[in-house]
Amino acid sequence: LPAIEVLSAEKIYPNGTRALLPVDLTIRQGEFVSLLGPSGCGKSTLLKMIAGLIEPSDGKLMLFRRDRRESQRDVPLSFVFQEATLMPWSNVHKNVRLPLDLAGVLRAEADTRVREILELVGLEKFGHVLPRELSGGMQMRVSIARGLVTRPKVLLMDEPFGALDEITRNKLDSDLLDLWQEQKLTVVFVTHSIQEAVFLSQRVIMMAARPGRVVDDIRIETTLTRD
Ligand code: ADP
Ligand code: ADP
Repeated sequence: LPAIEVLSAEKIYPNGTRALLPVDLTIRQGEFVSLLGPSGCGKSTLLKMIAGLIEPSDGKLMLFRRDRRESQRDVPLSFVFQEATLMPWSNVHKNVRLPLDLAGVLRAEADTRVREILELVGLEKFGHVLPRELSGGMQMRVSIARGLVTRPKVLLMDEPFGALDEITRNKLDSDLLDLWQEQKLTVVFVTHSIQEAVFLSQRVIMMAARPGRVVDDIRIETTLTRD
């Protein structure tokens, strides 16, 4: 089943910047795909179009076979932003619960799901802690937990590991891979690290800049086994 179809979608920003030449791309349900390329090649633009945060200037995007514009509300899709955008005055548990509160999920059910997901990302002991008391890597894990708590079918991440040190990054990478394998999520993430793209994803979409475009689409045949 195709989860995401990008059909000749291109982007010219209102100021005239040609951010992305037409892209054609199909991402199947359960695929783990990275968008790899240098700064300015249109990675964020492509991701934001898939997320529905911006509209393509031409072409269209389909999610689970429905036009992106029609599926805006009911396709469970989460977007994890580059910086951990947590509410500083709320503890970790409440930060992760926010999307469920907004969706009107009953408190008891929401609390159970938050505890489950915090355990999954190894933060079960930190529910009562404020974000600023955590390391950058842990804050990012809270953001990912908040993205996953709604049980999305699609998880989009814009350089979620960019600001992290190597050790935290490797730990986070493994956690994410476990989550994906457990939940059969479709994951698309942006990176400029070849290592990260190859280690994490099954498929690497290579992009180039000036103008932004897709130049290659590589399937990683071997599934890495980790201990
Ligand atoms: P990447 O994520 O690969 O760094 P972006 O998608 O952010 O690339 O940007 C692609 C191109 O579009 C760049 O030339 C960038 O300067 C430009 N761009 C990004 N956002 C905007 C915007 N809101 N308005 C005008 N130009 C933009
Ligand atoms: P990234 O895409 O690398 O995560 P940003 O989205 O913040 O980072 O910006 C990417 C590029 O797009 C930068 O070069 C930035 O100057 C440019 N850009 C972002 N917003 C605008 C805008 N509103 N107008 C023009 N250029 C923009």
